[in-house]
Amino acid sequence: MSKVLVTGGAGFIGSHLVDRLVELGHQVVVVDNLSTGRLSNLNGFAKLYEMNIEDKKLADVFDAERPEIVFHMAAQISVTASFKDIIKDGNANIIASLNVLEQCVKFGVKKIIFSSSAAVYGDNPELPLREDHVPAPASPYAISKLTTEEYIKLFHKQHKLGYTILRYANVYGPRQTADGEAGVISIFIDRLLKGQQPTITGDGNQTRDFVFVQDVVSANVAAMNSDKSGIYNVSTNSQVKINELYSTLRQL
Ligand code: NAD
Repeated sequence: MSKVLVTGGAGFIGSHLVDRLVELGHQVVVVDNLSTGRLSNLNGFAKLYEMNIEDKKLADVFDAERPEIVFHMAAQISVTASFKDIIKDGNANIIASLNVLEQCVKFGVKKIIFSSSAAVYGDNPELPLREDHVPAPASPYAISKLTTEEYIKLFHKQHKLGYTILRYANVYGPRQTADGEAGVISIFIDRLLKGQQPTITGDGNQTRDFVFVQDVVSANVAAMNSDKSGIYNVSTNSQVKINELYSTLRQL
């Protein structure tokens, strides 16, 4: 049994991870400011600190809880918002991550597991995407994810902090909200259930790689149980056309 801390543990992916960690018998502490996360998502056995991870008081949480492993999932997740307010995105995704990293080193965390994104590859047409492909981030959001990855690697070199960076494809599953921009599956389901026509951008022949949230959770747990540091894509390695996705959901 380990003491683990999950930033963003009341969010879509984080809350499923917290459920699994509790099931596995770990002691789980969550830091979440509930900006997009929900209390109703949160497992009753997890201890919540309602706090912004940019806050210097994060040190007090680490001091009191002394986690061995940190899953860093809290983030500003909207690409559109990252273009609208580049400084807010940088603060939420880079400066806040530095705060988390500093506390990890100060309080002897063994490993950080970071939720990054396949967005770091940009629009690379060479599929499947491989971890050794040269990143070409095309948005402030993607730049902030890649920058955090670089800081994590630096902290590993300088302070021996273990790490796993997980670059997720398009994650889907229960608790994903339909009001964001990321969850095309939940957005389509929401529109169909309301009897509304979903909007397909472009000709719908563009493809995406969709990965189920429980598989993302399994990747995080595998990372926790490994002593290796490194970067891994988390996806199904298959392409689904948006038109195909729409027809499948409509039939269902
Ligand atoms: P989400 O918005 O549901 O979860 C983010 C959580 O972090 C929320 O609970 C929110 O309240 C919290 N949070 C945000 N900013 C915070 C702050 N400054 N301080 C404290 N808490 C804060 O999003 P998600 O889809 O579950 O994403 C989780 C992680 O996975 C993010 O880092 C995201 O970039 C990454 N990711 C998600 C996808 C996807 O398809 N959903 C794809 C690639 C990467």
